[in-house]
Parts: sequence; C-alpha cells; structure tokens
Amino acid sequence: MVLLFTLLISLIESRAFDNRLKNFHFIFFYDIMFHGSDFMYKKLNILDEKDKRLRNISKDATLPLSKEYKDIIEHIIKELTYSQIEELAEKYNIRPGMGLAFPQLGINERIIVIVHEYDEGKFDNYVVVNPKIVSSSDEMIAAEAGEGCLSVNRDVEGHILRNARVTVEGFDVDGNKIKVRAREELSIAFQHEIDHLNGILFYDRIDKNKQFYTEDEIRLI
Ligand SMILES: [Zn+2]
Repeated sequence: MVLLFTLLISLIESRAFDNRLKNFHFIFFYDIMFHGSDFMYKKLNILDEKDKRLRNISKDATLPLSKEYKDIIEHIIKELTYSQIEELAEKYNIRPGMGLAFPQLGINERIIVIVHEYDEGKFDNYVVVNPKIVSSSDEMIAAEAGEGCLSVNRDVEGHILRNARVTVEGFDVDGNKIKVRAREELSIAFQHEIDHLNGILFYDRIDKNKQFYTEDEIRLI
C-alpha cells in the first residue's frame, strides 16, 4: 500500500505539473488511499450565523487535545485547503474559506485553524489553542472586498478595521507554547477567528455610520 502510494507520488513528481495541479492530485490520491474509492467526502457541519452558540464566549481548551479534537482539526485543515483549490471546492461544493474556529462547529472551546495560501498552490496551516493577541501594530488595514465567513452565507458589505500586524501566542495541539507573527491578510484572519472565540461575528465590527473607507483614510488590501 505504502509502496503504491510512493509510486503514485513519484509519478506525479516526475511530470511537469504545476504546483496547484500537484496539490490537487496529491489530495485526490489521499482520498483514494484513506477514504475508500467512492470519493465521497463528508463535509464539516458548520453552524449558521443564526445559531446562538456562535455568540457564546468560549472557554479555554484542555491540553493536550484529545484524539477526537486532533481528528476534527485535520478535517478542518482538509476542508479549508479543498475550499481554496478551485477544482475541489467545486467538486465538493465548498465555499472558499481561510479559517475556522471551533465554536463554528458548536464546540465552545478556544481553538482556531487557519490555512493560508502564501504562494500560488502552497499552503501553510496554523492551529492555535487558547490563542491570545499579545501585541498589535498601530497601523490599521481593511480587506478592500470586505470579509467573509463560513457561518455567514451571504455577502455583507463594509470595511472592517484590523491591525496590520499581530503577534499571537498560544499552544499547539500537544500543549507546546507557540508564537505566530502575522501580517496583512493573515493578520486579518487571526483577528477574525479569535473574534469567534468571543462570540463576535465580523459584521458586528462594521461601523454603521461609516461603512466604507477610502485609500486616504486606511490602507485597503
Ligand atoms: Zn468567520
């Protein structure tokens, strides 16, 4: 089995696929090897914005995390990665998303997962348990197109002011202390996900008296 897998991978490596396609094929084979041959992918059950559990203040998670929680995290990483690869997002009908927080699955514990496409077809995963923003830049930015959320199945227009850079401290799944420095869209993602742990949805932060900013007022990314 492992030999077959290695053969398949080297077959892919030997061809001149671009990175995105390679990633796609890797996940495709991953599906065959570990999830049977029917390619049926079971999607996460993400709560909708109307669900009151999204409004709870979540409690610290107990470390190290259980096997069950680690499996959920793997599932989240997989789904967020799929969601950012067009072919797979279409195939499984997944809306694009960069991050997810445990409360969005109805588990009110402080765990966040972010999958960041730092270069075309290349992804970094961030899993932070009990995250805390320990420092943040004075400079503020906003996502020009506004923010989206996997729990909010509609477009909500408006700019949300976020710190351009944040440093986040917390723990990995085994309880080791970690520190992440995030900037630009990754910084926005961390602030968005940590908001979920405090029962805040992104549109709560849209100023009703000033829904949009100009480039002169704030750096839009
Ligand atoms: Zn969200």
